[in-house]
Order: sequence, then structure tokens, then C-alpha cells
Amino acid sequence: MANLTLTELATIENVLGEPAVREVLQARGVKLDDLGQVFELARKELSPLTKPQAEEMLQRLTRHFRDPVMPLTKFCKTMQTWAHCIQDSVQESTDYQHGQAYADHLGHILMDIEKSNLLARLFYGQEKLRTKKCPVHNGHWSGIEHDGNTCSHGCELTGWLKEG
Ligand SMILES: [Zn+2]
Repeated sequence: MANLTLTELATIENVLGEPAVREVLQARGVKLDDLGQVFELARKELSPLTKPQAEEMLQRLTRHFRDPVMPLTKFCKTMQTWAHCIQDSVQESTDYQHGQAYADHLGHILMDIEKSNLLARLFYGQEKLRTKKCPVHNGHWSGIEHDGNTCSHGCELTGWLKEG
């Protein structure tokens, strides 16, 4: 097996989903035969729940909220599926199709969603929407903070000040 840590593997799996993990592992020379064991090992390390237990919990949460509860990755894949269906529908027919006005822009929109610092902060960081502009970065994202590149106002180069 390649030198992947369980945390690294789990992160890849959580962020990209299982098919992407397979691609990464294949690229790193991990035999596909080992994947079942690798995934099982990662899951046991990550979660005390079995897959059926996790599914049952999601169903209970869905009943509680009266709204579908699912991993964010699944939601994102569903949105991508919807967008691809719109694009395919528009491309396959010369007749008017729902989504015709914006189908050509969906690829760009999906890419921006995937790269969005704001969405990452809202979904993964569970931040509230920042409403006060940084006096230096003035509401514009200015890269990723690192040792030599930080904001003295604490906006984390998002362009917006943290609140609360
Ligand atoms: Zn700033």
C-alpha cells in the first residue's frame, strides 16, 4: 500500500467521494484489491457507526427536521447531476428546453461553487455570512493566508471581517 495515512485517505474520501479516492489510489499504485480493506480501516477509524447505523441516523434526522438530511458531498453530487441533466437536455434537442437560457453557463457556475471560499466557510466552517468589509481588503478575497501573507485586521484575506 502507498504511504497514505488514514487521515489523508479519509479526507480525500470525504471531500471527493469514493470514486475519486479510487483514482488517487490507482495513481499512487495501490492495488484495487486492497481498497476494500483500506476503506473499511478508514471507516472504522473515523466513525464508531456502521453504515446501516449511519443510514438509520440520517433517516431519524430527516424525520426530525422534516427535511432531507445527508452528507454535503451527496448534496453537491446531486446538484451536479441536475446541472448535467439540464446541459444534456439542451444539447440533445433543438426544441426549446427548460434551462436553455443558462445551460452554457452551468459548467462555469459549478466550478466557481467548487472553488468558493465563501461557500467553504459557510458550509464547512459553519460561519455566518460576514457583513463588514475589511478596511484593507475591502470585500475582495486576496489569496490564502500563510506566514508572510496575513491581514492585520483578521479578515483571513477573505476581504470580510469576522463577527461574533
Ligand atoms: Zn483584510
